[in-house]
Order: sequence, then structure tokens, then C-alpha cells
Amino acid sequence: MIDSHTHTRYSKHAVGSVDELVQAALANQIKVLTITDHAPFYVDETNRLLEAELLDYLEEVDRAKQKYAGSIKILKGLECDYMPGSYDYLVRLLDKVELDYVIGSIHYIPVNGELVKVWDLPRLNSPEVIAPYFACLRELMTCELFDSVGHADTVLRSIPDSVFFERFHPMVPLLNRHRLSYELNASGLRKTSFDPIAGQETRGTWSYPSRTVLTALLQEGIPCTIGSDAHAPDDVGAGVQDLLAALLPDGLRTISYYEARKRIDVPVQDVLLFS
Ligand SMILES: [Zn+2]
Ligand SMILES: [Zn+2]
Repeated sequence: MIDSHTHTRYSKHAVGSVDELVQAALANQIKVLTITDHAPFYVDETNRLLEAELLDYLEEVDRAKQKYAGSIKILKGLECDYMPGSYDYLVRLLDKVELDYVIGSIHYIPVNGELVKVWDLPRLNSPEVIAPYFACLRELMTCELFDSVGHADTVLRSIPDSVFFERFHPMVPLLNRHRLSYELNASGLRKTSFDPIAGQETRGTWSYPSRTVLTALLQEGIPCTIGSDAHAPDDVGAGVQDLLAALLPDGLRTISYYEARKRIDVPVQDVLLFS
């Protein structure tokens, strides 16, 4: 059982210590856990690690790694924000640290001098926000700073799959060209979706990951990572098994994770707890 996207209280809007997260992962039979707290970024300080905390964070993960060696493989990661103009900042940041895995994600979309949050679902449902989102995503996918692109399809909480696919499909070859994995983010199974006709958010619909995109990824042989995106120990591993079981009939055969920035591929059958 693998979970390659998890947060602790270092992300500020998440709860639980590294130790509590690991304990919960052990209880959920997770064998490979990557902790990917939100990396320092100049846009906000309230949703992430501060640069001054970075070494403490990495040391705490290292301590857990040693403490639980033999029971679980713990890997050191970061989830970095990307937006146009952030390349130099990120190069400097990533230069300072030794990591197993780096996710590149978009949480803020620059729109006419304003930053639109990807969880601002009513705002997301408009061409003037979606166009810069994909421009930003293209830059993220070509900058060669990351191992995987995190929740690229999170915008499906607000836009139709057909709109996402039309814009994303031409970008699929970039993943192989720039040695990137596509993240299957299981938090889409527990998040709300925006219904533009009713003008409100609803629960219980699977918004992302996109199965249409997955089919195209599999055709191109793009590697996929998987993660719960847990923001609390209780959610570690959440949705991972359901997602794998659901995507197995679509042809998903391998799941990847990263150690020392090197991709390791595992057969899905070995990751499934019940098959
Ligand atoms: Zn994220
Ligand atoms: Zn995350």
C-alpha cells in the first residue's frame, strides 16, 4: 500500500505531527509513505512551511524514517506551488534540500493581476480563469523541476471533463518528454463539486482524477503516482484503494513512487490490499 501525497501540521492548514501521520499510516497497512508538506512560497505564509522551518521538517521526517525502519518506508517530499515567474525562486529552494520526491502543483492562478484559488469553484468555471490555468500548467510541465504534476485535474470540481480533456490532451506528450509522472489524487473522491446550473457545491460525485485523461495517459505509457492528499492523520491512505480498484479495469497496471528523485514502478496488484 502506497501513499505518495500527505501533509502534516507543517502545512499550517493541516493537522497532526509527522509521528501521528506515520502511526496512522501503519494502522492503514501503508508500506511506502511520502510526506509532501507544502513547500515555502512567496505568495502566502499561512498555508505552508516557512523557509526557516524547512530543515526542522526534514530532520523530523528523517527521525521518523529511522524510528520506523523495518515497518514502513518513509520518504521525504515537498509539494511545490508553481506559477509563472516562480522558476528562479524554486531552483534556489530545491537546491538547498535533499528530497526523495517533489510534486509541482497549481493552487493559485494569476488572472489579470489577481490570484484565483483553485478551490474557488465558482470563479474557476470561466474561460478567463481556465485559459491561464492551462498556460501555467504547461509551464509547470516543462520546467523540469518536479517529479510529478500534482492534481492537474482538480479543476474538474468546476469544469466539465470534456473541456479539461480538450485542453489537456495536446499536453500529454510533454509528460514523457520532461520525465514527469501524472498524479492520481484520491482527494477528488471526498471533495465537493460545483454545479454551475444550481450555482452550488454538491457532495458525492467523483470529480477527479479524470478517467478520460487516464486512458490517454496509459496509451502514451505515462507513469502515474497515487496519493490521498491527506491533511490529517485520519485521512492517510483515504481513497487510494478505491481509486486503484476503480481504475484497474481502465488498464492501470503500474503505480510509481520516488526515492532519491528516482522513479520506482510497482505493479498495481502488489499495491491492492484486497484483490
Ligand atoms: Zn495541492
Ligand atoms: Zn497536497
